[in-house]
Amino acid sequence: MSVPGVNYDYHRTLDMERNDRCTCCVRTMKWFPVLFIVAVIGWSYYAFVVQLSFFTVSSVAQRIIFLLFYHIVLVMFLWSYYQTVFTEIGRVPSRFRVPRADLDRLVQATSEEEQKQILEAFAKELPVVTRTLNASVRFCEKCRLIKPDRAHHCSVCGVCVLKLDHHCPWVNNCINFTNYKYFILFLGYALLYCLYIAFTTVAYMELIWTGKIDGRFHILFLFFVSVMFAISLVSLFGYHCYLVLLNRTTLESFRTPIFRYGGPDKNGFSLGKASNFQEVFGDDRRLWFVPVHTSLGDGMLFPTQSHHLVSLANEAASPVASVATGNHQVCNATVVNASDAITSPIPQIQADFKEYVNGSKTTASIESHE
Ligand SMILES: [Zn+2]
Ligand SMILES: [Zn+2]
Repeated sequence: MSVPGVNYDYHRTLDMERNDRCTCCVRTMKWFPVLFIVAVIGWSYYAFVVQLSFFTVSSVAQRIIFLLFYHIVLVMFLWSYYQTVFTEIGRVPSRFRVPRADLDRLVQATSEEEQKQILEAFAKELPVVTRTLNASVRFCEKCRLIKPDRAHHCSVCGVCVLKLDHHCPWVNNCINFTNYKYFILFLGYALLYCLYIAFTTVAYMELIWTGKIDGRFHILFLFFVSVMFAISLVSLFGYHCYLVLLNRTTLESFRTPIFRYGGPDKNGFSLGKASNFQEVFGDDRRLWFVPVHTSLGDGMLFPTQSHHLVSLANEAASPVASVATGNHQVCNATVVNASDAITSPIPQIQADFKEYVNGSKTTASIESHE
């Protein structure tokens, strides 16, 4: 029995304290890019509102219009940025965690084939249709779990993240299933903010350049900074719009997902541009450009092109999915029946999926459709 204080390891405690301090330093440093962006926005506010609108613009009507549009764009920009930074990442639920007994069997397994079989047996009840290069169920050794489709391990966050796009230092967060819509809106509103500033300040460039307005370095600098940011944002925003329409994450554009049935397919999750857009932005068009959660699904189950489900027809009708969304119930369900996968057009699968995750369609009604 240990007595408090007797087994106190002085050196180990010092090491732990040092490690804690290091972790704390690293964690603080990760916020620097976010602070930099906040500082730039703060300075641009001063330059636009005080230096340009109040000190330079002489017409009251013009000043009101300038400030009104500026504040609308700024609010949307800051709101989507806040949501991107502070939305919790999508974590993998515990039912994907491989139990201790199976982990022991994995360690003791004598061949890769045996390991594959152990993982495959455990994943039988899970909604996973993607595999690794060697056709094994995707397993994270660090988190000791089966990775849901499109989930990946983020080495910065140290956990597996649902529908991981990439880890972004500028928001100090993973861009993933939970904040992907916010991230795209953040890029879009940031671009709009920069373009608005550039177009409103450009009229004063000549006056400043020719010295007709004194001491307006802030406005001059504001113009160049907004143009510079706009140029870099245009390509990033355009690239992510392209990815949304193809239903592809940044990771998937570099590493093609491999399906259990059908093999590697970059477009495996694509269901047409309109459906792909709705999967991220939801089906209520009034909320498309508002940074509130409207994405469809739960981040674990994604409708795929039907040929990736075809071979389900050869399997016994077993539950392939357990869906949990928001306040809706958790239940086991054969979301897309094998026969449906063969005969149904993709939009019908997508429609079933949307109704299902919105709770308006029950398991029974999905199955009866088939
Ligand atoms: Zn992991
Ligand atoms: Zn991360």
